Amino acid sequence: SASAPPSELCSLQNHLRCSICMDEFTDPVTIFCGHSFCKRCLEQSCDYNDSTCPLCKKYIARVPDVNIVLRDIIQQQKNTQIPLHCYFFFNLKLITIF
Ligand SMILES: [Zn+2]
Ligand SMILES: [Zn+2]
Repeated sequence: SASAPPSELCSLQNHLRCSICMDEFTDPVTIFCGHSFCKRCLEQSCDYNDSTCPLCKKYIARVPDVNIVLRDIIQQQKNTQIPLHCYFFFNLKLITIF
């Protein structure tokens, strides 16, 4: 909403949540459209629905391997408890392009 403070809008935590289980990623996978989900959540979604991205409905040829970079960032954040903000998210986006 408009009343949310900017830091909350930018918070990386919001981007580290799986939009299927609404929890922190477990073994995150990033599909080519740029959306990320837990590997298990995405596999289940592909089993019960079409093999499409649950968010943008783009076709998924196969569930990709775990995004190690994203997994490390989540792990690191758990360990440090340091709030990560936009800067890191932009880096993350660059990383996920590869
Ligand atoms: Zn999930
Ligand atoms: Zn997508």
